[in-house]
Amino acid sequence: MLWNDEMDSELRDLFSKGLSYTQIASVMNRKFQTVLTRNATIGRSHRLNLQGTRTEERPRSRKHISTEPKPVRAKRPPMIKAEFIVPVCVEVPVKPRHITLQELSESVCKYPYGDEPPYTFCGHPSKTGKPYCSPHWNVTNPPRS
Ligand SMILES: [Zn+2]
Repeated sequence: MLWNDEMDSELRDLFSKGLSYTQIASVMNRKFQTVLTRNATIGRSHRLNLQGTRTEERPRSRKHISTEPKPVRAKRPPMIKAEFIVPVCVEVPVKPRHITLQELSESVCKYPYGDEPPYTFCGHPSKTGKPYCSPHWNVTNPPRS
């Protein structure tokens, strides 16, 4: 879209009269036989530094939100302590060995797999003194922020 000086001055003029961008586009389209969109007039007015003089036109969505009555929030459920949350669908950067219950020992990760018996377990060497390997320990004990 090419803008000539005449169109620029028309845009300035309409803008100073307080027309909306949609109105400016339609007036100019009639006058110059153009097919300007609202966005085109917005873009051009930005380039001409016109927007700084206008304050009333705000993004429509914002206005919409502010007039909407806020839904009443239900009371928050009580906080559950992190230790009692069992992660079910967490992506862990470790490939489980899927060992059986019988194969479990003190030194291997006991992170369970499977939704129903027979369950399998991670089976990788566990963190010293912990029941899980490092990746699973991090999942079950996320660092506190
Ligand atoms: Zn593990």
